[in-house]
Amino acid sequence: MTDGDAGHGLAARSRQTRGLRRGAPVPAQLTVLSGPSGVGKGTVAARLKERCPWIWQSVSVTTRPPRRGEIDGQEYFFATKEQFQGMVAEGELLEWAENYGNLYGTRRAPVLHRLDQGLPALLELDVKGALQVRAAVPGALLVFLAPPSWEELVRRLKRRGTESPEVISRRLEAARDELAAESEFDITLVNTSVDDVCDQLVSLMIAQEPDGHPGNDRNPHPEGIRWQRLRP
Ligand code: 5GP
Repeated sequence: MTDGDAGHGLAARSRQTRGLRRGAPVPAQLTVLSGPSGVGKGTVAARLKERCPWIWQSVSVTTRPPRRGEIDGQEYFFATKEQFQGMVAEGELLEWAENYGNLYGTRRAPVLHRLDQGLPALLELDVKGALQVRAAVPGALLVFLAPPSWEELVRRLKRRGTESPEVISRRLEAARDELAAESEFDITLVNTSVDDVCDQLVSLMIAQEPDGHPGNDRNPHPEGIRWQRLRP
């Protein structure tokens, strides 16, 4: 696939969302936000945390060193490779994947604890991790965050400024494969605006109140929500 091919395919998409491919568009308890490197998953998850702190988000474990300003237990739990491998061996991770030499994983227990309580949870993962969650939690809603165009994805990856040119070019290479996995997901949101994507995510995650009105930023009803499974 050339840059032009990828750009054309994404730019040609006229709708912001594409329909749920599996089951009806009812709220799911476990939602996975994924998509190619650089698309803005982290930015969307961070904005959602500000706007909707009652939506619980898993904090991943990683062997990547903290970036400036990152706090252990907040953005990630930072672990050594040995600690991470120990967690894998003990079956403590719901999913895990290697990205550019670093390991990333989701702790199983806190997620299952939320789901046991019938409360929603959001995971922000790479595509490999999202597809593992599909296998582990069949009722999960997999949301694919797509860039408005290939050219925009390239621009965002370069603008980040935290990675070397070699890392950027490896991420672009990986992004081509990750974009090809879109058909495995339940729904696509196009990241034209962080706030719009947050709104769309909230409406996917928040169950309808008995009177038909979803909870929102001002009226979240965090404990009173009746959650439904995406699939029985
Ligand atoms: P970064 O190092 O830029 O924070 O994240 C690199 C990639 O790892 C991103 O695509 C991010 O979504 C992904 N990632 C973060 N946490 C996890 C996780 O727990 N599992 C998996 N599979 N990927 C993760």
